[in-house]
Amino acid sequence: MQKTIIAMSVVTLLAGCAHMSGGHHGGDHHGGDHHGKAGHHGAHWSYEGDTGPAHWGDLSPDFALCKTGKEQSPIDIDTASVQPGNLGPIEFHYQPLNGFEVINNGHTFKVPVNNGSYAVIGGKRYELLQFHFHVPSEHTIDGEHVAMVAHLVHKAADGQLGVIGVLMREGAANPALTPVWQHLPQDEGKASGSATVDIMSMLPADKTYYNYSGSLTTPPCSEGVNWNVLKNTVSVSSAQVDAFTRVFPKSARPVQPLNGRVVTVNH
Ligand SMILES: [Zn+2]
Repeated sequence: MQKTIIAMSVVTLLAGCAHMSGGHHGGDHHGGDHHGKAGHHGAHWSYEGDTGPAHWGDLSPDFALCKTGKEQSPIDIDTASVQPGNLGPIEFHYQPLNGFEVINNGHTFKVPVNNGSYAVIGGKRYELLQFHFHVPSEHTIDGEHVAMVAHLVHKAADGQLGVIGVLMREGAANPALTPVWQHLPQDEGKASGSATVDIMSMLPADKTYYNYSGSLTTPPCSEGVNWNVLKNTVSVSSAQVDAFTRVFPKSARPVQPLNGRVVTVNH
């Protein structure tokens, strides 16, 4: 009897990991394709326990930067130390998504974008690849998290990733999220909606932003990511946050050391 239980446990563990990593690899979460495509799923990782953030760097040689990297994300943005920047405003060229997919990749809900939307940051053009969410926010401002964050992941022609973070403070429901939130897949896989998602309406009116050089906040923690966290927040209701945490109770990597990096504020 005991043997049977042990054997079943092993099967369950294996199945659990295969399920979590199936059809997904770390870089995919943030739009990178560091490991090529089919056939490479990377090691299983999570947000707690033996496969949590403190262990990511040990789970696979591919994830070494999670442990050894010196320019990791997220960070705490200490507003007293922020320097004036000269990047100018981000130019947003986002088109509405007329119909969309929502992917539950085992770590977050992700909406792919492939409709010509792009942003120009410091004169460089980045194509919008996808957006996804974390609860609570990964970056903190003066040590403080907000309820949720949207990460809009872009890629430039030279391969550099550029992420724009939109901090969401708990308050009124956010109507920009409604179409997506009506189709959140409860299990790993995808769902689709026919409504229009107005990506621009996910952004605050004042688009002042903090800029610094960081990394993917998920394995493989690749560096060289152009990070842009909007200073102003938008709202999200507790019900909207709850709908996310029912599926993903934890989804935020702890803040990482700054190691001398400078964060600039740009208008
Ligand atoms: Zn993210």
